[in-house]
Amino acid sequence: GATIGILGGGQLGRMLSVAASRLGFRTCIFEPGDDCPASHVTDRHFRADYDDEAALRAFAEAVDVITYEFENIPTSALDILDALRPIRPGREALRISQDRMTEKDFLSGLGLATAPYAAVDNADDLAAAIGRIGTPAILKTRRFGYDGKGQARIMAPGDAQQALADMAGAPAILEGFVKFSHEVSIIAARGADGAVSCFDPGENVHRDGILRSTTVPARLSPAQRTDAVLLAANILNALEYVGVMGVELFVTPRGLIVNEIAPRVHNSGHWTQNGCAVDQFEQHIRAVAGWPLGDGKRHSDVVMENLIGDDIDRIPQIAREAHAALHLYGKVTCKPGRKMGHVNRVKPGAG
Ligand code: ATP
Ligand code: MG
Ligand code: MG
Repeated sequence: GATIGILGGGQLGRMLSVAASRLGFRTCIFEPGDDCPASHVTDRHFRADYDDEAALRAFAEAVDVITYEFENIPTSALDILDALRPIRPGREALRISQDRMTEKDFLSGLGLATAPYAAVDNADDLAAAIGRIGTPAILKTRRFGYDGKGQARIMAPGDAQQALADMAGAPAILEGFVKFSHEVSIIAARGADGAVSCFDPGENVHRDGILRSTTVPARLSPAQRTDAVLLAANILNALEYVGVMGVELFVTPRGLIVNEIAPRVHNSGHWTQNGCAVDQFEQHIRAVAGWPLGDGKRHSDVVMENLIGDDIDRIPQIAREAHAALHLYGKVTCKPGRKMGHVNRVKPGAG
């Protein structure tokens, strides 16, 4: 059997590792942290930093193919790994999604609609960008943002100075505020053979910048559904992508607008664990391992609720609910805003 190497040992790495073992693969995790969620479900944990060249080499040599659960892998580490083993999805997807500016340029280059945007490195850039884009707008760091971190809302031009200060000198991007009716995402997969398969789009609710819930089916017209599938396939094909990608979309009266892409399994795809015969984690492992993609057709309606921070106090009640599938990440300490697990509430017979 082959061995799959996974960069990152968080909950996504954990669920990828479980899916891989179910298909008979072994897994190795590369993760600096000690007691990480994936460490308990993997065959081997390489516990080292991304600047440890010897550890990176040893990891690559222990595996047949390398994938990842987060996009901010240092380029120097990728150079070392890339020379030894295939990295799937490929590096172009990482390069593009590591920087919000590159990502927006790529998406608009494909003819897809995005929020109006401009690069902001200083107060002059910001004033010019606000002049062109207007307010309300959102200033975001170009790199390393997640769960709404590294973002500042600019409701009126007077908020500009504080927003720029919030970026702490990091290169930023100003985005015009999109007036959406709701948010959806589409989890798409592309196999090594070029086949593309999309999961049904999910409707996402965020609170404080963090995903709270995903509901399938999403409120979308048949035309919007088709559009979501076509735009996702457009993105995956353009990158000759192999693996699963999450594409976040704003639904507006003028059509779907792409918010961002994530070159990995995605929190808004966790419903697939209990709504499809083949979930996003298995689909990703299949693609990375060169298997044919599996059947990702939705068989049930599902509401996925993230269990964040002290939501875990409700686990005893949730554990008694009918048709509720709990997925806990084994995190030892609970902090506000920390994703501890999720629950998929399945509607039997629907789908
Ligand atoms: P993630 O954890 O999804 O990677 P992130 O930190 O990359 O989050 P974004 O997805 O850019 O953050 O933004 C988080 C949320 O903020 C979005 O889901 C949306 O609700 C809101 N938001 C972001 N950008 C815009 C925009 N241009 N217009 C309107 N709302 C926005
Ligand atoms: Mg993001
Ligand atoms: Mg997002």
